[in-house]
Amino acid sequence: MANKTRIQKFIDTHPEVTVTTKDTNKILWKVLSAILTVLTAGRMTNLITGFVTTLGNRIYFPPGWTVATAAPGDYITLQHEYVHYKQYVALGMGNVWLGFVLFAILYALLPVPTGYAWFRYKFEREAYLTSYLTAKQLKIPQDFTQYAKWLSGPEYFWAWRDCTAITQWFTQQTANKK
Ligand SMILES: [Zn+2]
Repeated sequence: MANKTRIQKFIDTHPEVTVTTKDTNKILWKVLSAILTVLTAGRMTNLITGFVTTLGNRIYFPPGWTVATAAPGDYITLQHEYVHYKQYVALGMGNVWLGFVLFAILYALLPVPTGYAWFRYKFEREAYLTSYLTAKQLKIPQDFTQYAKWLSGPEYFWAWRDCTAITQWFTQQTANKK
């Protein structure tokens, strides 16, 4: 199946989420980006152009993104972001926006904002496991070491410092799912 067909099919079969771009709600994205730049002392400056972000039931790709011009990796990202949507729904006991607020608090602050931010690590590793399994279906090589680097680095505000533990977790999870 062609990449854009696959992405369009996902959009058509998941009406509970809206796939859009950061061209919408521009001011909100500028504010969020500025906050992250300050919090990470200038090491995370590409929230708008470098990341796909899910707020509630809206999945935002970078500005200018279209289904027609999507990269193969974008389908993997879509599946990753859909895990976050499901996490919001589960936390909000069916209410995505309630869940999103609870998620944001757990994700950003608990038990600590950085270093060993258990909830951020837990939510992201679940989503990256889906990334991995989706990539595998598409026969696109993925590397746990890269996930571990992101989850222990500025991309995720140093969510979990123990890089080795992250790699081990992925190794165990995927060994069970072969
Ligand atoms: Zn994520």
